[in-house]
Amino acid sequence: VTAASERLRALLALNDDLERVANILSWDQETVMPPDGADARAEQRATIERLAHEALVADELAALLEELRDDEAGLEPTSDEASIVRVARRDHEKARRVPAELRAELVREASRGMMAWFEARARSDFSILLPHLERQFELKRRYIDCFEPTGDPYDVLLDDYEEGMTTADVDPVFDVLKRELVPLIDAVRRAEPVDDSCLRGDFPAEQERWLAMHVLEKFGYDPASWRVDLSAHPFASAPSPTDIRITTRFEEVHLGGLFSCMHEFGHGLYERQVSPTLRRTPLATGCSSALHESQSRLWENLVGRGRPFWNHFYPRLQKAFPEQFADVELDVFYRAINKVQPSLIRVDADEVTYNLHIILRYELERELVSGRLALRDLADAFDAKMQEYLGVEPPNAATGVMQDMHWSDGSYGYFPTYSLGNVISVQLWERIRAEISDLDEHIERGDFAVLREWLGEHLHRHGRKFTPAETIERATGSPLDPAPYIRYLKRKVADTSGIAVA
Ligand code: ZN
Repeated sequence: VTAASERLRALLALNDDLERVANILSWDQETVMPPDGADARAEQRATIERLAHEALVADELAALLEELRDDEAGLEPTSDEASIVRVARRDHEKARRVPAELRAELVREASRGMMAWFEARARSDFSILLPHLERQFELKRRYIDCFEPTGDPYDVLLDDYEEGMTTADVDPVFDVLKRELVPLIDAVRRAEPVDDSCLRGDFPAEQERWLAMHVLEKFGYDPASWRVDLSAHPFASAPSPTDIRITTRFEEVHLGGLFSCMHEFGHGLYERQVSPTLRRTPLATGCSSALHESQSRLWENLVGRGRPFWNHFYPRLQKAFPEQFADVELDVFYRAINKVQPSLIRVDADEVTYNLHIILRYELERELVSGRLALRDLADAFDAKMQEYLGVEPPNAATGVMQDMHWSDGSYGYFPTYSLGNVISVQLWERIRAEISDLDEHIERGDFAVLREWLGEHLHRHGRKFTPAETIERATGSPLDPAPYIRYLKRKVADTSGIAVA
């Protein structure tokens, strides 16, 4: 270990500390901070984020990365040492391309846009939000101009969430999803509706929490390194790999809180199982947004909406909510939690229709970035696609174009990662099932150690060592591929809706 590499590790550790302190500030704000703390907290977060950014673009870091070029060339590329230099250099060079004033303006306009979104949504008036979107879009164009042109300017936005992935990678995947899922949804719509009335009723929060904690403990939740708290929007946060915090909300009229706990556990476990040798480096976190979502979806859907899981947990669910489920057969419950039905709100959508919510947003973002669609026409274009893909007509802007926060704070390029995560989750699942032939038996016994260990070994421990494309290939054995996901959804629909699916 040279003096230069030691100094590099120290600078990267400082940066990691700052970013994780920012995480704690956000977690605190969402869970326990009284409302009047908001103004001071915004200043505190801005200060920490500015310090972290300055550390990342610092001249000293640039000089060290230059000095380490020769050392790096002599190292095994997949070693921790070489990977840390490589990833740090990429992060550093990318951050340096964006002028500090532009970055600050993007941050400021994002928080203004979000405030406007709360008001615009409350009044269901898109015109309140529109000027903010227009201002942000000008800034986004300047941001895109900071980078070398690729085939499509949208690639720059996508790269912020999926490093190295482009529209040329995403388009063929989404084309397959659209081609296969639109007719599948049509067939479901024509079939006898699945009875899901057992999922509506009275679910006391205390009982749901008791059940959710039991499931989490079986999954591998350990109070020595995990916490669960309540927040308006569920999320997972990792102040360190041994300090994992997930949040949920128990709404008493459905079981959403239980499924959101399983979802956030998947995010948390990814952070928990990153190799300890990568701590306090930029590699000590999940590889990308899509890979992160593949983990949350795997635990929520592939585990948590599967038969083996409920073969184990259904008696406990009946015990938690006897009035609701004492007389409901497991099979009826299983079909209810897997019901496919086009609906208005993305976050409430089932596994099949969810992807069309994403694809229509991705298409609209592409059209906005290319200039084919003007922001003032976004609301109408959104409604038209909802009608075309899902046969659903948003009754107003609040539940239509403004139902998600993403566009109000300028997070263009994020939406596609949700469906990519679904696709990857099933690629992983097929691989896992091929390697662990008795996985179902493990799950039926409430034993998740073998699954946790597989994910740790093949995916989690690497953190950001490899690019998303490399990580997918290493973990699943093949490049990004929608075929396993389509197979899975068709089987699920056949199994739960009772309709024959080609
Ligand atoms: Zn998620």
